[in-house]
Amino acid sequence: MDIAESVLARFWSKVTLDPTGCLIWTAGRSVYGYGRFFWNGHSGAAHRFAYMALVGDIPAGLSLDHLCRVRHCVRPDHLEAVTPRENTLRGENHVADQARRTHCPRGHAYTPANTRLKNGKRECRTCHNQARRDKRAASKSA
Ligand SMILES: [Zn+2]
Ligand SMILES: [Zn+2]
Repeated sequence: MDIAESVLARFWSKVTLDPTGCLIWTAGRSVYGYGRFFWNGHSGAAHRFAYMALVGDIPAGLSLDHLCRVRHCVRPDHLEAVTPRENTLRGENHVADQARRTHCPRGHAYTPANTRLKNGKRECRTCHNQARRDKRAASKSA
């Protein structure tokens, strides 16, 4: 994608780095909360512009999912090109995750004894041990 330096400079002048690591769009937003950027004769989504400018074209039929869930974030490595269906499912899962906090996906309580930390995320010990047993059983029978 061929984008003039002056356009890129204008783009980045509207972006500020958030302490969380998100690149926050400070100019106008759409009703959906996405940053708007006027470029090439029309106004488009700022995060889509950032992705096209720094990563490449967005494959046809795919939309950009905000992994950070901040819609006015334009950081390309917070974006992933996914099918619209995947995007919707992830959004719903995110809400479900919040509600599920006291229990693991299989319903084991996150008690201190049953909780281990992996990469800063909680993991259920019961499920972890079960997965290890399954793995061992699988390698034995293979
Ligand atoms: Zn972000
Ligand atoms: Zn569990």
